[in-house]
Amino acid sequence: DRARTPDDEPIIELTGVDFGYTATPVVEDISLRVDAGEYVAIVGPNGSGKSTLMKLMLGLLRPDDGAARLFGEPSHEFDDGSRLGYVAQHASASKEMPITVREVVKMGRFPHVGFGRLSGRDWEIVDRALETVGMSAFANRRVTHLSGGQRQRAFIARALASEADLLVLDEPTVGVDVESVGAFYDLLESLNRDGITILLIEHDLSAVTDHAERVVCLNREIYFDGSTEAFVESDALGRAFGTAATLVGDGV
Ligand code: ADP
Repeated sequence: DRARTPDDEPIIELTGVDFGYTATPVVEDISLRVDAGEYVAIVGPNGSGKSTLMKLMLGLLRPDDGAARLFGEPSHEFDDGSRLGYVAQHASASKEMPITVREVVKMGRFPHVGFGRLSGRDWEIVDRALETVGMSAFANRRVTHLSGGQRQRAFIARALASEADLLVLDEPTVGVDVESVGAFYDLLESLNRDGITILLIEHDLSAVTDHAERVVCLNREIYFDGSTEAFVESDALGRAFGTAATLVGDGV
């Protein structure tokens, strides 16, 4: 029952989008569409406009020119928070929060129940989300006392509890210990198999090429948009990142 989006309606659609914070354009002539069920990675060097593009997609910024749509509405007018789960880098805001994992995940139900009491069914959804991300044993632990990887799982569980059909992650494994990173991407892959659309902003190119099925390579403009296999074979990486770029090692 996850697919609330008709198959032919794009989840995200950008058409000829230009944007700059000043007179200098940061992204230019961006057209792309993300359909339900896709796993898309946006890659590009530092400062290439990845975060800006994500904010345009989510309606946190408005294009200077062109159009951005989210779930069929102009992105900036979209307000159904339950459909969209966002996992920030470090999930850093949580560091000072004196609340438990379960309380974080419970927040995922707020778009459905307001600030009213959760029903038995709501709590079942919360507990199932904890189980899905492998955090049941940590339900009562304070978020402050988690490792980076566990914290990111808690925030994914919050998105699952809200029954989001789009998960947007901004460099989610920065600060996550190396041993947990593989399992973290495995989790994303299994969520994607369950029908959740994933949009991943990544600097770690090996993570992208191992897991995502489609790559959008950005440096102000789109240098490449296609399958991960075709990306690896293409010269887009060198053109977008400069000649030093390589798919071997820990990214750029
Ligand atoms: P990335 O996520 O790929 O590192 P960003 O989208 O954060 O790139 O930044 C793209 C460009 O926009 C950079 O030159 C950055 O300095 C500039 N920029 C980002 N945010 C702002 C802002 N709030 N005000 C002015 N310039 C910004």
